[in-house]
Amino acid sequence: MAGEVFAQNENRPVDLTIEGSIVCAGDQGATIPSPGPCAAPARYALRTDEGKLYFFVDQDPRAEIFKDDRVRAKRLRISGWARPGNRIEIIKLQAVRDGVLYDLYYFCETCNITAYAGGPCPCCREELEFRETRAKKERMKDERKDEG
Ligand SMILES: [Zn+2]
Repeated sequence: MAGEVFAQNENRPVDLTIEGSIVCAGDQGATIPSPGPCAAPARYALRTDEGKLYFFVDQDPRAEIFKDDRVRAKRLRISGWARPGNRIEIIKLQAVRDGVLYDLYYFCETCNITAYAGGPCPCCREELEFRETRAKKERMKDERKDEG
């Protein structure tokens, strides 16, 4: 049950679902190419196909995952709560590939711990393993746009 600290279950329905890729953005909204992690003052943002930028809430533990190159290289679908200043508080983060959703997380086989961000296992201190698994089928009521 040690993994529970990482998995808060909020019952409030999400009010925003966005899809696009992660960029580094300055305060003026200018995006900066970032082969590596974002350097301050630029922050991670998700850029949609329409070119709209969404920032993340300060100290959102779910946003830690963007430090991982493997995550930034993917097309992502993020669901969460809209916050002022074009920000989103992340509730669900998935990769999209060929129209299929994948859950992204980190896992310690030894301790059976699942975490949202990489780094050492909070239990045994071994490096957590990055996992990408096909999301379980779920009904999507607001499937607004098709891929492409
Ligand atoms: Zn462990």
